[in-house]
Amino acid sequence: MKYIDQNIINNLLVSEAKTDTAKLDSILDKAKLLKRLSLRESAALLSVSDPAYIQKIFNTASFVKDKIYGRRVVLFAPLYISNLCRNSCLYCAFKSDNVSIKRKALAPSEIKSQTELLLRQGQKRILMVCGEAAPQGKENIDYYVEAVRAIYSAEVGKNKIKRVNVNCAPLSVEDFKKLKKSGIGTYQLFQEVYHHETYLRMHPKGPKSDPDNRLDAIDRAFTAKIDDIGIGVLYGLYDYKFETLGLLSHIEHMEKSFNVGPHTISVPRIEPAEGVEMSLNPPYKLSDEEFKKVVAVLRLSVPYTGIIMSTRESPKMRDLLLSLGVSQISAASRTSPGGYSDLEREDATGQFSLNDHRSLDEIVETLINHDYIPSFCAACYRKERTGEAFMQLAKPGTIKGKCSMNALITLKEYLDDFSSDKVKAIGHKMIERYFRELDKSDQERLKLFFAHVDSGVRDEYV
Ligand code: SAM
Ligand code: SF4
Repeated sequence: MKYIDQNIINNLLVSEAKTDTAKLDSILDKAKLLKRLSLRESAALLSVSDPAYIQKIFNTASFVKDKIYGRRVVLFAPLYISNLCRNSCLYCAFKSDNVSIKRKALAPSEIKSQTELLLRQGQKRILMVCGEAAPQGKENIDYYVEAVRAIYSAEVGKNKIKRVNVNCAPLSVEDFKKLKKSGIGTYQLFQEVYHHETYLRMHPKGPKSDPDNRLDAIDRAFTAKIDDIGIGVLYGLYDYKFETLGLLSHIEHMEKSFNVGPHTISVPRIEPAEGVEMSLNPPYKLSDEEFKKVVAVLRLSVPYTGIIMSTRESPKMRDLLLSLGVSQISAASRTSPGGYSDLEREDATGQFSLNDHRSLDEIVETLINHDYIPSFCAACYRKERTGEAFMQLAKPGTIKGKCSMNALITLKEYLDDFSSDKVKAIGHKMIERYFRELDKSDQERLKLFFAHVDSGVRDEYV
């Protein structure tokens, strides 16, 4: 696979397998200074198996997470618009030869009404997801652009979707330009597996069977000036240490070629999928302990990149991973087209099963009880603080201050418009607590924003 040198990765996994404690300590010291780690240093941390030292890695990851991101956690919901697909990924329910699921591609009017249901819950950020095939007679890109427009056109009271991120099949530079123009935030594409032979085995048919085309898609997206990019590994397909170093090698390539790394990293683990034998027993199933280590090592290796956690994981695991580095979580998700209105359809057309079934309000409640500020903010994207501009802001820690202010404004909007009385009570207490921590001038600014929210204004940010 291009840019991913398997020999280098394999050699590092051997040479760093038994790194002494003094060297490991010096790596953690470097990480505490919020410095990006080298591939070699990440390999050394991934190789640690002593539970006491792993705890030390976790503590350092929590320190770094808190330093850069503060207490805020960004919330979003996936919106599956279609499960039609031309590929045959061995792990996915949407694969073309799976006859166990019903096929459905939502029309723009259905996409709009699904979005309204999400807006009514209080959601403000959507991740649009689909298989790699458009409804008959349509080009993929035209369908995607139509869908993004439909999402942005939905309105409930004064609430609209602020940011649509997209996880869809790779496109040409021209088509990526059209997608960018439709107003998307992040473009997400997971390589799934960086180990070449495994990639070929897992993707036997369709356009996705070419690993280099998929890897190059990230470069094409950058070339089309989409500078917020999300990448990821589907854990369970190959050895987790190799895969994490594969992902980090890909990031090195992005940094070298485009001067900016990914905006987010996703770390899905394979979940059981309807009619898909392999998903029940993945070849390299990752234990919970290994999974936590992966998240912590990623947090330390690329401190300024957001880490996303979906509802594939259980509430307990998700709550725990927030302290190790996760900065964005999905909430109250459905993985089937139309799933937000048709609860039965989830089993018949869903992509995989989920482990966190809490409502958005319940998730907000848990976050507040764990002293995390739920955030519905999309200010960076609105103010064009994306790509390199975002990284420049993020690095000195400036973003933490802005983010906390915006998180508090959007939390107040959520509490006033959508939350239960129980959550309102604890939410307002949280806002008061964090308000007191701000300096005088920020307090004055925030008071003004809050007065606007009280008078019905929505969607203001710093
Ligand atoms: N079809 C596009 C693609 O493959 O890139 C985008 C959407 S696909 C529905 C989104 C992601 O779902 C895939 O990239 C894959 O990582 C993940 N996925 C597929 N099957 C899964 C499973 N059984 N469990 C967990 N995640 C899965
Ligand atoms: Fe299609 Fe994506 Fe599922 Fe593969 S992972 S079968 S490309 S929807």
